[in-house]
Amino acid sequence: MPLPAPYLRLLQAFDALPGVGPQAAGRLTQFILMGNQNGQGNNAHGNDAGSELAQAILAAGETLVMCERCYRYAMQSVCDDCAGHEQGGTLWVVENTEAQLSAENRGWRQLFVLHGLLSPVAGIGPAQLHLPQLRQRVAAEGVAELKLLLSQGVEADVTTQFIQDLLADLPVTVERLQEEPEYGTA
Ligand SMILES: [Zn+2]
Repeated sequence: MPLPAPYLRLLQAFDALPGVGPQAAGRLTQFILMGNQNGQGNNAHGNDAGSELAQAILAAGETLVMCERCYRYAMQSVCDDCAGHEQGGTLWVVENTEAQLSAENRGWRQLFVLHGLLSPVAGIGPAQLHLPQLRQRVAAEGVAELKLLLSQGVEADVTTQFIQDLLADLPVTVERLQEEPEYGTA
């Protein structure tokens, strides 16, 4: 008997997620469906993980936006940090939300979140990382110093080079922090 269509749909949805793969997708599908056995709505862990996951995805999609200035995830179009923002000085450019939290923990609030690195293979270009908006902000606010907090690797090197070239004609210095980030690699 072939697997029912809803099962395959869920399996394929997990398989399409980055870094999951067919085997883990199978395990996740089984884990979620355990909650539906006998119509109990509870899985072996005593909670309805499937319903919670579905609702969390919907709620995030319906309520979260990216701040139009720093691209943090926020509940409104300008986040709290940007609402009372300072301008100029130093701007930290961070790779993702993990790096954002790491930066905020150190008291660095003037941020710009890339949500990735340039990757032609994955189809991620300057527009996806909002790099034109980064240039606009640096120019408009007179940012004097840009510090990049990125993971190690070729994509981070390429992204660094691109940003340096992008801002070459502006009076701003670009420095990449060479420490190993606490948040790990992308
Ligand atoms: Zn913001």
